[in-house]
Amino acid sequence: MTRGPGWIEVDVDAIADNIAIVRRELGTTPLCAVVKADAYGHGVDLVLPVLMAAGVDRIGVTGNDEAHRARRLGFRGRILRLRPALREEIEDAASAHVEEWAGGLAHAREIDAAARAIGRRIGVHVSINATGLSRDGVDLHRAGGREEVSAIGGLPGVRPIGVCAHFPCEDEHDVAEGAEEFRAQSAQAVALLGAGADGPLERHCATSYAALTVPASRFDLVRIGAALYGDTSARPGLLKPALRLLSRVAALNVYSAGSTVGYDRMHRTTRTSRLAVVPLGYADGFHRVLGGRAQVLVGGRRATVVDKLAMNTLLVDVTDHPEVQVGDEVVLAGAQGADAITAQDLEAASGQIAADLYTAWGRLLPRRACGAGAA
Ligand SMILES: *Cc1c(COP(=O)(O)O)cnc(C)c1O
Repeated sequence: MTRGPGWIEVDVDAIADNIAIVRRELGTTPLCAVVKADAYGHGVDLVLPVLMAAGVDRIGVTGNDEAHRARRLGFRGRILRLRPALREEIEDAASAHVEEWAGGLAHAREIDAAARAIGRRIGVHVSINATGLSRDGVDLHRAGGREEVSAIGGLPGVRPIGVCAHFPCEDEHDVAEGAEEFRAQSAQAVALLGAGADGPLERHCATSYAALTVPASRFDLVRIGAALYGDTSARPGLLKPALRLLSRVAALNVYSAGSTVGYDRMHRTTRTSRLAVVPLGYADGFHRVLGGRAQVLVGGRRATVVDKLAMNTLLVDVTDHPEVQVGDEVVLAGAQGADAITAQDLEAASGQIAADLYTAWGRLLPRRACGAGAA
């Protein structure tokens, strides 16, 4: 049992099930399982064994730590980086054999320089701006864009292995249009890079949302993150959320009607109220904006966070839940009994995507695995 004020619980069976479901949906399209941001806060050390047991042979990372840990855990498949990396990161990643995301010609030159420093060519996926993210892809509409792609392919330290893009919106129409444009532009890029490539170049642009919503976006590979963890707006109900955020009631007190509650007297009781202290706050990644808005589950029922969150505590009104006692489990995200605080609930309360919250919980709080597959 984890002995902190709060912890996250990762259902490894849910991740295994989600992989199987996504694969069934995809048919024969290969999948790259995305484990960036420490597996979206779920923990590479917990998630990677599940992926390996499922035969996943390709993962996507952002930082080197994820790549090195995957290798230490015995992962022998391909590792693709999903953003442009700094020169030092590229050199440091060489021992893990990371395929780099080439974010334009100037960045590809950094990869080339790193390749010379380590003494061998580095496999790259050349990002193109076909979907209009305008973040790191070469703009093939611009005069000079084609020359840039050719120049990337001509760098001696660069070994082109793919052409990629990333969607700006989770919207079916937007993705469908972007995928069409990617079909045309990736063909151009493949033709421009082909001479420097050892084999056929892989084309890929789909995320979970795109792959599950617009089959025409799948091309040769799909990069699946959110769906593995059961947090995607594509196909509601298809996948199971794998993460819960838990704590316990630390203290319980009764305040008379008309009491003001918490910092800035944000809340005023309208009746005699029973308030539970939960020992988590904004320093634990439960954003302050959730104060007065979020709900939690205690005793299988919903209760509202009434105060403006403190650094390490929050207050829940349990006046209507007389059975609640000190020590009772509180669920701040995920299921308890028949109800669940869903990603949609958190998004409505915070105005942010749920990943903005739970990736921070993963860094800040201890984790434990549950499910039959947990070690
Ligand atoms: C995070 C990421 C993905 C995975 O996206 P999901 O929506 O989580 O499936 C794919 N590609 C890139 C470039 C990413 O950064």
